[in-house]
Amino acid sequence: MKKIALDYTGQFRLLKEIANYRRFPHHATIDAETSFLVSAYKDYLRNKGDPWKVAGHVKNVARSAAMEALYSSKIKHVAYIREMRDRNSGRCCSMCGSLSSTQVDHYLPQHHYPEFSIFKPNLFPICGCNQSKLKKTIGSNADERFLHPAYDRKISDRAIYVRIRSHGSTPSYEVIFKKPKRVRANAAFDFHTNALVSREKVGQYVKDGFEKFCRRPSSVITELKYKNPESKAALARMLRDELEESCREHQSKNNWESVFLHALLERRTLNWLWRKMSVPGRLLNAPLVSL
Ligand SMILES: [Zn+2]
Repeated sequence: MKKIALDYTGQFRLLKEIANYRRFPHHATIDAETSFLVSAYKDYLRNKGDPWKVAGHVKNVARSAAMEALYSSKIKHVAYIREMRDRNSGRCCSMCGSLSSTQVDHYLPQHHYPEFSIFKPNLFPICGCNQSKLKKTIGSNADERFLHPAYDRKISDRAIYVRIRSHGSTPSYEVIFKKPKRVRANAAFDFHTNALVSREKVGQYVKDGFEKFCRRPSSVITELKYKNPESKAALARMLRDELEESCREHQSKNNWESVFLHALLERRTLNWLWRKMSVPGRLLNAPLVSL
């Protein structure tokens, strides 16, 4: 879950250029459809991509084929799609927050909305959670839809929490979704987190991180290789520094690394960590518990 800046610079002009590019086999179809596409793009921007409001397209076989071919085409006009995929590999997934976005998602799916196949405001870097989305656009209740990374401003505000309990030999990991304050799109927020963010995968990510931290604390906080924190407050400060860095690097509080670090800072977990770290005679960077 990550906010992406809205960018449609040159997108209208692009249609005209493709229509005139004779080496693209469907250029004549794009030429014939330009005015339809322009009005569809405007409709998208006006309605902020909301599937409850954007007009569904009228089926047109030639247009659909042309748009599909355009999306997977290697012509320079659509190189920005490949760049989006390459540039974001290993970065925060705009939809679920995992750290492995390797695909490009159509917010309004290509299957139902071929007219937005190459429209930049409709394209986002995403991970395998694409498979949970597919042709889905809305839920069964009013206003249920996925969050739009360019329009739903709160998508980067912390909404995914994990609570670690029974920290000793068999810790448990409870994943909680909590809406950020002053969210307007309540139904969309609930629908999005429940349909798209895998509780199981977030829990597993935090479990792996916690076990790694317990085995070798410096694998999470490098500083711990050289010195033990002198107090619980000092440990919290170290964790907060890492957390801040992670949020800055991934430009979202909902990247899973940040979710993990935030879980370590939760009161009861922090207390447990400090108890383990402050055992008299503990060697520098020694395991906290064997997990
Ligand atoms: Zn994802």
